[in-house]
Amino acid sequence: MSIRDNLERIIEQIENSRRHSLTNGDVELIAVTKTRTIEEIQEVIDCGQLDIGENKVQELRDKIDLLKNSSINYHMIGNLQTNKVKYIYDKIKLIHSLDRINLVEEINKRAKKDNIYVDCLVEVNIAGEQQKGGVEYNKVQKFIEECMEYENVNIKGLMTVAPNTNDEVYLRNCFRKMFELNEKIKNSNYEKVEMKHLSMGMSGDFEIAIEEGSNMVRIGTSIFGNRN
Ligand SMILES: *Cc1c(COP(=O)(O)O)cnc(C)c1O
Repeated sequence: MSIRDNLERIIEQIENSRRHSLTNGDVELIAVTKTRTIEEIQEVIDCGQLDIGENKVQELRDKIDLLKNSSINYHMIGNLQTNKVKYIYDKIKLIHSLDRINLVEEINKRAKKDNIYVDCLVEVNIAGEQQKGGVEYNKVQKFIEECMEYENVNIKGLMTVAPNTNDEVYLRNCFRKMFELNEKIKNSNYEKVEMKHLSMGMSGDFEIAIEEGSNMVRIGTSIFGNRN
């Protein structure tokens, strides 16, 4: 199967799940291009897939330079070190991995100097996994309230990387908790907080995630094949 075929199949599966979802709302696809070559990435771009996700700052910078295409929307989906914010904060559409105040502070400082706003999602460690990044589930709302003090950082929703498990009931429950948390914060009507993106679902679990209300999925393997 070519990348184009895979992409078409995924788009169809997304549409299918969307029709069976809690919200029936639109779902955005982010093609996760970490470890992929410029040629592979160019293939999805040529198919009109312009939202691209990377998880490492250096790799993201290199690819932005090599692709030289201002129509591409770059998403930072991986753990972001504070000292690397300066390389990407003004080049990306969305940071999915906001998870601590010193990171918010650094993004805000840079953005303020440039008089720009940086859109971010708060990453949630939904299953309380030790090795994973993200804000603890029951600290998310408080964290967002703290973020509101930083003028040039805009909170646009939540993101999670679900546990790697075959237990579909458990997984579904994690996604549902995310959806409900997002709704709860939305209903708090904070000024300048707009909980419009719920970024969850990867190659192995995106259909369940969409059924439970995800409106942004991040898919790599199912489009490009296994990573080395
Ligand atoms: C790699 C990665 C993905 C995509 O995973 P696949 O299983 O290849 O679809 C999604 N989100 C994050 C944060 C990732 O690091």
